[in-house]
Amino acid sequence: MPTPARVVVLPQDKPTLRLMDIQLPDPSPYEVVVQQFATGLCHSQLHQIHSPTPRESALLIGHESTGVVVAKGAQVKHVKEGDRVMTTWLPRDLATADHTPERTWYTLPDGTEATTGRTFMFTFGDNVIADEQHVVPLPDDVPTDVTAIIGCPVMTGAGAVRNTAGVQVGQSVAVFGAGGVGLSAIAAAAVIGATPIIAVDVAEDKLAFAKRFGATIGVNATAGDPVERIHELTNGGVDFAFDCMGATVTMQQTLAATKYGVWGGARGGTAVLVGVPVAPVDLDMDEMLSGQRTYLGSLGGSSVPDRDFPLFLEWFRAGQLDLTALVTQRFRLEEINEGFAALARGEILGRAIIEL
Ligand SMILES: [Zn+2]
Repeated sequence: MPTPARVVVLPQDKPTLRLMDIQLPDPSPYEVVVQQFATGLCHSQLHQIHSPTPRESALLIGHESTGVVVAKGAQVKHVKEGDRVMTTWLPRDLATADHTPERTWYTLPDGTEATTGRTFMFTFGDNVIADEQHVVPLPDDVPTDVTAIIGCPVMTGAGAVRNTAGVQVGQSVAVFGAGGVGLSAIAAAAVIGATPIIAVDVAEDKLAFAKRFGATIGVNATAGDPVERIHELTNGGVDFAFDCMGATVTMQQTLAATKYGVWGGARGGTAVLVGVPVAPVDLDMDEMLSGQRTYLGSLGGSSVPDRDFPLFLEWFRAGQLDLTALVTQRFRLEEINEGFAALARGEILGRAIIEL
């Protein structure tokens, strides 16, 4: 039986999201229909909405949420109807995937069709469809609202620190960009025991907020050169610098903020690109070579959701990852354009969610 759904549609040729009532088809053998509890607003969707590349069709978007399974295909074995779940844009564990996901097309009220973006799921709707690889069980003892952000900013930020970089106790860390992803990176660095943990941002309120998540020092990038400041604070640069922005200037600054290696001796520090880069960048490769520095890319924090989400929930239960504080704004589905406008204006201190 088709499932009626009120979904958010990104039109093919306009940057304004529209609410539409559609019928979700029966799930294919590997798909899950999820009735949504909450979903996060991400900069990735801002990039999608304002992309200069023409869209080939209207899109159903959103890529992190919580909900309850209301229907599933016959080949979906890891969750059943009535189970609470998180959804995420990364496959939960490719080692367990015995199929290749296929794009689903949805008929809009005007007879045209919409599909999902680069992932085989969407979350902006009261009911949605996701490939089983994007659906992760959510235990009963945690709330369903703030856990909606585990599927993107938490796995991206915390995963970059833990999985991609492998930060160890006592190592020094700088995090550029104290939004939802950067704060998750800071929280993970604190759990691991990194020190110092330097938050870099252009907004004083965000720097103050970052200290709630474990930042030990805040550096305001508008009050002088943050790279110089980091070198002063750490006596020569950090072990790891995370760029949670992907801006041209931060991609350069993170590399320069890492420590120099010793010729014939120790290797230098590591810059980790976490945010989505929006423009090409000039890097001083001699600085990289002479300093024996490393530059890493971290997509989704190199996370394996089946393995990592239970750990993030353990941190949450232990009070080490304060998701309740991280979710700073809440919108209704009808307010989604206002929510993204606030995000674009830099008004979201932590992360915004939509409650269904
Ligand atoms: Zn995201």
